[in-house]
Amino acid sequence: MRIKTNCANAPVWKEVTVKSRIPESLKMLEEMARNIWWSWNDEAIEMFKELDPELWSVVGQNPVALLERLSYEKLEALSVDKEVLGRIEEIYAKFKAYMSEKPDSTRPSVAYFCMEYGMTHVLKIYSGGLGILAGDYLKEASDCNVDMCGIGFLYRYGYFTQSLSMDGQQIANYEAQNFGSLPIERVNDENGQPLVLDVPYLNYYVHAFVWKVNVGRVPLYLLDTDNEMNSQFDRPITHQLYGGDWENRLKQEILLGIGGVLLLKRLGIKKDIYHCNEGHAALCNVQRLCEYVEGGLSFDEALEVVRASSLYTVHTPVPAGHDYFDEGLFGKYMGGYPQRMGISWQDLMDLGRTNPGDSNERFCMSTFACNTCQEVNGVSWLHGKVSQEMFSGIWKGYFPEENHVGYVTNGVHFPTWCASEWKALYGKYFDKNFMKDQSNAKIWERIYNVPDEEIWNTRVALKNKLINYIRNEFRNSWLKNQGDPSRVVALMDKINPNALLIGFARRFATYKRAHLLFTDLDRLAKIVNNPDYPVQFLFAGKAHPHDGAGQGLIKKIVEISKRPEFLGKIIFLENYDMKLARRLVSGVDIWMNTPTRPLEASGTSGEKALMNGVINFSVLDGWWLEGYREGAGWALTEKRTYQNQEHQDQLDAATIYSILETEILPLYYARNKKGFSEGWIRTIKNSIAQIAPHYTMKRQLDDYFSKFYNKEAERYRKLIANDFAKAKELAAWKEEVVAKWDSIQVVSLSKDQELRQGNVESGKDYTITCVVDEKGLKDAVGIEMVVTYTNAEGKEYIYSVSPMEMVKNEGDLYTFQLTASLSNAGSFKVSYRMFPKNADMPHRQDFCYVRWFNE
Ligand SMILES: *Cc1c(COP(=O)(O)O)cnc(C)c1O
Repeated sequence: MRIKTNCANAPVWKEVTVKSRIPESLKMLEEMARNIWWSWNDEAIEMFKELDPELWSVVGQNPVALLERLSYEKLEALSVDKEVLGRIEEIYAKFKAYMSEKPDSTRPSVAYFCMEYGMTHVLKIYSGGLGILAGDYLKEASDCNVDMCGIGFLYRYGYFTQSLSMDGQQIANYEAQNFGSLPIERVNDENGQPLVLDVPYLNYYVHAFVWKVNVGRVPLYLLDTDNEMNSQFDRPITHQLYGGDWENRLKQEILLGIGGVLLLKRLGIKKDIYHCNEGHAALCNVQRLCEYVEGGLSFDEALEVVRASSLYTVHTPVPAGHDYFDEGLFGKYMGGYPQRMGISWQDLMDLGRTNPGDSNERFCMSTFACNTCQEVNGVSWLHGKVSQEMFSGIWKGYFPEENHVGYVTNGVHFPTWCASEWKALYGKYFDKNFMKDQSNAKIWERIYNVPDEEIWNTRVALKNKLINYIRNEFRNSWLKNQGDPSRVVALMDKINPNALLIGFARRFATYKRAHLLFTDLDRLAKIVNNPDYPVQFLFAGKAHPHDGAGQGLIKKIVEISKRPEFLGKIIFLENYDMKLARRLVSGVDIWMNTPTRPLEASGTSGEKALMNGVINFSVLDGWWLEGYREGAGWALTEKRTYQNQEHQDQLDAATIYSILETEILPLYYARNKKGFSEGWIRTIKNSIAQIAPHYTMKRQLDDYFSKFYNKEAERYRKLIANDFAKAKELAAWKEEVVAKWDSIQVVSLSKDQELRQGNVESGKDYTITCVVDEKGLKDAVGIEMVVTYTNAEGKEYIYSVSPMEMVKNEGDLYTFQLTASLSNAGSFKVSYRMFPKNADMPHRQDFCYVRWFNE
């Protein structure tokens, strides 16, 4: 018999999970590790770190991984250490007290949908501002006892980790997350088996595991399709955040919206409000419509109910931030839904189109969200205005400024973003109730009582902490990509804790203009090399892997930073994430932001800086347009001088240099005998007292209730009471109006002679009378006079809208009358508008039928 070259069968592997055995007295740690409450409670973080500081750093400050890696011997030793145990017990008591509070049932409950959540750098399921906002929101909801749950994805690879090649090219590394070592829990079914959510796709199901992040008291459910029940085609649905092609994106949005609602149903969770944070989640309303229709409502009735209970928050005016799907692709996956909703395919497509019936128009998630959510909001006052304009095509018959798109300016979760040094300082001087009453400006005014030196010392301490952090964390990556080790040493040495330190860190989307500072390199070189006024810039940020231009900006900055005149003066820090962000926003002196107006919807990193006594120097866009106060920071004007973007960039750059040279640097270096600038401290105090209280997440959360949730929940309850009586009544009424709309006749419109001729005097009263034949409808329409003016740029605005009073009714004939005057002289346009009128409608765009007429 021949001897084969080898002979072995395949090993039969069985998976064995070794759970760390934890001594009984340390079980509390395990419980606390699985609730990311620790991520915003510094003492808890400190407690974990103290267990083994070195290992803490090795495991990337992840308590679950820490407990896993601590040896049983080490744990046993800790478990008999009275001091350690005492501290753990103390913190555990705080945690339990926090957790024992019950949700506030006086406020509406909320289901919150978002593609990304930034809660701790340990959970890589975020890319930037949107995610961090969502994470901050859940944390604040927990702190305020809101009955809320979140829905999102547990990404296998999340967003990428950034490194740079020697020449500044961004390298995106997608690292698989090991779910077992994350601060999450698997959701099990009634039998203790992993819960599997079946989500219909085409003619089969995609199966998702469900994970839960305990965000204090708020659960965040994460769907995960990366399992063997799914085909190779579907497993990657939750692989990457904002990765993959359009088909994968659609599959993600189906999972988030439709799967999200199915999950809530599976878990028996019912909420008053469904909040789509960005359009990605808008398909939740498809599933909700299906369920109401399957429960016996007509589509129109179901839409009343769904709309009343949903809110859509839009986060960007940048077109790339809005998803459009080709009809073919959309139909491939969504083709089965119209039938379930009792509508046609055309009807469904039209809900996602600005011009219903235009078969060239793709399905837009944002438009669909606008059409199926009663309320829509932007994320700052200016962004609200911009969004009114952006969506105005959806609500024809009304001017942008008339539509119902509102705003809530973004805020930041104070305990997450405020450094412990500042928390201690605030704790010492502020009211005891401060944490519960963070948006109370009166409390923040006490900052004026804090001695200047204490503020300065806190700033210096945090600055040193940042510099040490950079020296420790970046040595290795610099050794890799700076080539010459002596250069790295030189660079390290050049970081000067006494220099004015300016930070710029955010996603490298081109509209954020990270390159603006480098418009005039000669002038910049003079500024950074002035020996009297040393100044250094820290840059950080990731560009989307498909954004070549954004990556080009990184490369350009890295190249500039290597020139001799900028070495150590301009520093690019790799892999901007929440950990680095926390250091930067508390460690620099100035936080700079230079977006193209008005594309920065809000921006939040400057708000994080505020809480840490860091001063903002930014374009008056997004939140800073509202936040800026004279003497509390610096602003680049919001007025656009040039239509040409290049000229505008040059002007803005020149303004930055000049404000730096003439205001910021001289103020910073006006040092007194004690070594600090009193003017600088005054600016810090002004910034904290006058601006910070308005940009906490507490304020944002309260705004969502007072502007949207409360009013929607009240109306929703009214609509569903008595077996949906009001929803049915309203839908029936709308259907009747629609049926008769075209036949409604304006019988006459009579005006005073001068008005008819278009020649009126200001201040003089004129009378207009209009008779309408409503063709059997009962007082179902309103009439109003609309006056517009055209500004210098040729844009038409509303000057006034004057309702006409219904003064007489005979049969189907309704007579409307108005006596009005124009108080300004000038050139105006006047027209008349008929609209459906019903006190149960939340706003006009809820039933957007309009007929303009004139004689
Ligand atoms: C806060 C934050 C952002 C958002 O900052 P903007 O000012 O809104 O651009 C992005 N990334 C990280 C890591 C952050 O912490």
